[in-house]
Amino acid sequence: MASILSNFSLDQCNSLAVPSIAEYFMRIESIEDLDAARVFAEENTLKVMAIGEGSNLVLRPKIPGLVIQIALSGIALIEESITDALVEIGAGENWHKSVEWCLINKLYGIENLALIPGSVGAAPVQNIGAYGVEIAECLERLEYFDLFTGALVGLSAGQCRFAYRDSRFKTDLRDRAIITRVWLRLRKEGGTKAKTKAKAKAEYPSLRAYMDDRGLSETPENVFDAVCAIRKSRLPDPSAQPNVGSFFHNPVVSETQYRDLLEKFPDMPGYANTQGGMKIPAAWLIESLGLKGQEISKVKISDQHALVLTNSNQQDANAVLDAASSIQDLVKETFAIQLKIEPRIYPEH
Ligand SMILES: Cc1cc2nc3c(=O)[nH]c(=O)nc-3n(C[C@H](O)[C@H](O)[C@H](O)COP(=O)(O)OP(=O)(O)OC[C@H]3O[C@@H](n4cnc5c(N)ncnc54)[C@H](O)[C@@H]3O)c2cc1C
Repeated sequence: MASILSNFSLDQCNSLAVPSIAEYFMRIESIEDLDAARVFAEENTLKVMAIGEGSNLVLRPKIPGLVIQIALSGIALIEESITDALVEIGAGENWHKSVEWCLINKLYGIENLALIPGSVGAAPVQNIGAYGVEIAECLERLEYFDLFTGALVGLSAGQCRFAYRDSRFKTDLRDRAIITRVWLRLRKEGGTKAKTKAKAKAEYPSLRAYMDDRGLSETPENVFDAVCAIRKSRLPDPSAQPNVGSFFHNPVVSETQYRDLLEKFPDMPGYANTQGGMKIPAAWLIESLGLKGQEISKVKISDQHALVLTNSNQQDANAVLDAASSIQDLVKETFAIQLKIEPRIYPEH
């Protein structure tokens, strides 16, 4: 069984590279490890927080309680028909490597989600999505370990209450349900027509433009390559410039507010939001204030993408949150829009 370490540095466990010390830390490689973590936390009245690869977290300098890093492994095709297959993946597997594994095995549906950093177990938490696809579209079910009862529980996709970058793992099941395995239902070559080549989704505007410019057909392999190329050109690599991807959600305003804003800022882009209102790209708001490439509290607003804060000066969470709050204030003053932070801040206060 894995050991429980005290005063453990999480500096290498978060892609923002903020210095952070966990009171207790345990790497979880089996269900027995999870149960041991549960008992230890119960006996010592400790809060438990799970991490995967730490690519969507802003960790404060001191983390009270027990941090568990989920490293449950394994990937296998467990069921198949002429048209589709079911793949079981352990929560600790790397997401991008799992996408590659599926593509090599000619199992399709998640190629648009290539190069999203992080673990498989964290993917359902925020219903990861990119280039017109979300994991909710192919996740059939998952299993979690209940930290309150010690039981393993199965949930269908419907029971996860997936929404845009959201699920129950951010609300009623937060810090209670530790995802251990997921099952993805993926398409096989040709789908229902055995002799036709597999097609992937390529309607997302920047992906469509990339494919059209190069005359690429919509095979899953081409979409995978295109998504990887677009992402590499647009987003700073966390291993070179520590970051957590988009730092703010794209705000949604009412249609009336959007019309009023357009009178003052005629170039402001806006897209109809599926749940109503207009979605405004947060990157546009930040960029139009001239903040792209600037530093606040030694934290840089990436010159590649205004929505990404990079931490090459290895500032702590307080400096990063200071910078974020200055950006929020400036956006609010000019546009009367409140930007919401996307990654999880832990502990919250
Ligand atoms: C450069 C960059 C680009 C990104 N692009 C995208 C993108 O295009 N689309 C997108 O959706 N996201 C994107 N992200 C965000 C990030 O990749 C995802 O949120 C990813 O799923 C986080 O995985 P992780 O293993 O690093 O999770 P962590 O950061 O370790 O944890 C994130 C949350 O999940 C919880 N958690 C982790 N593992 C488990 C588990 N097994 N069971 C229960 N809860 C768990 C944690 O408690 C925490 O609340 C990007 C991030 C970066 C750095």
